[in-house]
Amino acid sequence: MTDYTIGMDLGGTNLRAAAIDRSGRMMDKISGATNFTEGREAVLSDVVDAINWLREKHGAQRLAGIGLGIPALIRMKEAILSGSNNLPYLENVPIRDEISRRLDTFVILENDANAAALGEKWMGAGRDVDDLVLLTLGTGVGGGIIVGGRVLRGSVGMAGEFGHMTVVPNGNPCGCGNQGCLEKHASATAVTAMARLMQLGEELSSREVYEIARRSDESGEKARRIWRVFGEILGMALATLINAFNFPLYLLSGGLLPAWEFFEPHMTRVATERSFTLRATKKETRIAQATLGNEAGLYGAAYLPWIER
Ligand SMILES: [Zn+2]
Repeated sequence: MTDYTIGMDLGGTNLRAAAIDRSGRMMDKISGATNFTEGREAVLSDVVDAINWLREKHGAQRLAGIGLGIPALIRMKEAILSGSNNLPYLENVPIRDEISRRLDTFVILENDANAAALGEKWMGAGRDVDDLVLLTLGTGVGGGIIVGGRVLRGSVGMAGEFGHMTVVPNGNPCGCGNQGCLEKHASATAVTAMARLMQLGEELSSREVYEIARRSDESGEKARRIWRVFGEILGMALATLINAFNFPLYLLSGGLLPAWEFFEPHMTRVATERSFTLRATKKETRIAQATLGNEAGLYGAAYLPWIER
């Protein structure tokens, strides 16, 4: 028997949890739906039940702690959530202390994109570096910063919100109060909106826009223009990040990666044009795809108790 931790990824409608040992070997993984519509108590019991199931199977004495990745801003000191559209029931509730009390073990909360960045550092594309940035490209854009092998959280835990960097001065309005945010111009939602504007279809998924881009007809040409704009916007954001951090590695993950072949050349071109740091450090700076997919968050959450306890 070996010491292990449990990493959990709590999403809008489901949860996933994994028991992972100190060397990064995934021993077990479970997933299930959560009763989000039934309120706070239902969600808390789903979380506790899933952890208990893994803990009974792998031994309570060997469990070194629990990391919980959550799609929300987390005020780290109080472990209070805010700004989560998916988990309104958990806002302003001492969820960490409550779970910790029910399970009588060490629990740490982390923003889901931060957890994914840490997972990539531990077991994924970032294992050879100590400093990296991860951008998660989905319906929105999340971000995580790893410095010296640890999550950079900022003074209250809200660092790394790259999805809300301004990339278009008078761009599309965003729920955050700003306009022209990165996630309003380079996300799955933005790709769907551009496809509508280009009259390719009303509600196309980014996967479908990728498939169309592979065609040699006029629609293919239109779809490739969408990925070009997407890549240029992303390149602009990356140029700013590269100038700010001078890290060796910038990772992209999420459901838009399949279109890499179409947006990457434009992304790299614009990032190079706009970032003198990138031009000066071309050999030492990489923009690459993350490798753990949606398991990154589980690895990162499971890694937290080892480095934060
Ligand atoms: Zn915004």
